[in-house]
Amino acid sequence: MTTRVWDYLLEYEKEKSDLLDAVTTVFESGHLVLGQSVSGFEAEFAEYHGGGLCTGVDNGTNAVKLGLQALGVGPGDEVITVSNTAAPTVVAIDGTGATPVFVDIREEDFLMDVEQVAAAITPRTKALVPVHLYGQCVDMGPLRRLADEHGLVLLEDCAQAHGASHHGRQAGTMGDAAAFSFYPTKVLGGYGDGGAVLTRDSTVDENMRRLRYYGMEKQYYVVATPGHNCRLDELQAEILRRKLRRLDDYVAARQAIADRYAEGLGDLAGLRLPATAPGNEHVYYVYVVRHPRRDEIIERLKAYDIALNISYPWPVHTMTGFAHLGYATGSLPVTERLAGEIFSLPMYPSLPEHTQDKVIGALRDVIADL
Ligand SMILES: *Cc1c(COP(=O)(O)O)cnc(C)c1O
Repeated sequence: MTTRVWDYLLEYEKEKSDLLDAVTTVFESGHLVLGQSVSGFEAEFAEYHGGGLCTGVDNGTNAVKLGLQALGVGPGDEVITVSNTAAPTVVAIDGTGATPVFVDIREEDFLMDVEQVAAAITPRTKALVPVHLYGQCVDMGPLRRLADEHGLVLLEDCAQAHGASHHGRQAGTMGDAAAFSFYPTKVLGGYGDGGAVLTRDSTVDENMRRLRYYGMEKQYYVVATPGHNCRLDELQAEILRRKLRRLDDYVAARQAIADRYAEGLGDLAGLRLPATAPGNEHVYYVYVVRHPRRDEIIERLKAYDIALNISYPWPVHTMTGFAHLGYATGSLPVTERLAGEIFSLPMYPSLPEHTQDKVIGALRDVIADL
C-alpha cells in the first residue's frame, strides 16, 4: 500500500469505541445543533488553554474570518500576514473585505519575519495575523509591541499549532484572539470540518457568538450585520471533546516521530531538517524538510510507493486568485525560493515505526543516488 503523508484509519481502529460512543451520545441527546457537546467542548478547549472564552465555528477559515470581524476588521482595512501559509488564511482575510498585505518569512524556520512588519504598517493597517505554521509559533513579543504601539488587533492563526507553546505560553493565548481549525489532518482534528475562536475579551466572544448565528443574539431577531451561519456541529464537537483529552499524547507521538526522523536523516547532505526557533515547543503538524533537488526526490520516491506532500507548492501571492493584490513574482524572495525546495514527510500520531523506517531508508537511498 502506498505510504501517505497522513492517514487516520489506524487511529480510528484504536479509538473506535470512544468515537462511536461520541456519536451515540449526540444522537441520543435530543439536541442536534448548539447543544451540550458544543458548549462542553468550548469550555474544555478554553480550559486547556488556561481559561478564556471559546466559540466553536464550522471550520478554520471561518474562525479566521469571523475572528477578524469580531475584532472589528472590515472593508477598507489592511491585514498583515504571510504568503507562505495555507491559502485559507488569506481567503478568510479577503472574505472580511479587508486587504491582505504580505511580509516575507525567515530562512531558518519558514515563519513570519517579524522584523519586516513595522515597514508594512500604513494608516489603514488594522490587524496582524501571524500564522504558527507547521506546528511552531511566530515570535510574538515584537508583534504584541507593534500592535500596542499602532493600535492594531492581533489574531493568531493556530490552525497548525494546537498544543504548541512559545516561551512557555500556549499558542492561542498571546493575541487578542486566536483561530483554530479542527480539519481532520490537524493536530486536533475531527471527523469532518470544525473550528473555534479563543479570546479573553468578553466583547470579542459576544461578537463571535452573534456572527456565527446569523447576527442574532436571540432567536429570529438580527441585531447586527454581518451575520453568518457558521456553527460548530454537535457531532464534531463531541468527537473533539473526546480527542482533546488525548491531545497531549498526540503531540508527544508527533515529537517522537520527529526525533526519529532527525536521527535517521540528520547526516544527509543537502537535506535541511526543520529547525525549532528559540523558546518554541514544536508540535510537528507537518514535518517539512528542504532540499534543492526536491522535485527529483519526490519523483524517485514514487518507486518506493511513498507519496509526499508539499506544504505549500505555490505562495499565495503568486496565485491568480490574488493577482489583484499586485505582488510581482520576486517580491517575497524567501517565500518563493522555499516553495521550490520544501516537502513534507509522513506525519501523524499513529504512523507505524516500520513506515517511519521505510521513509528514512528510501530517502537515504534516493539522496545518496542523486
Ligand atoms: C487548515 C488551515 C486553515 C483553514 O482551516 P479549515 O478548517 O480547513 O477551513 C487556516 N489556516 C491555516 C494555517 C491552516 O493550516
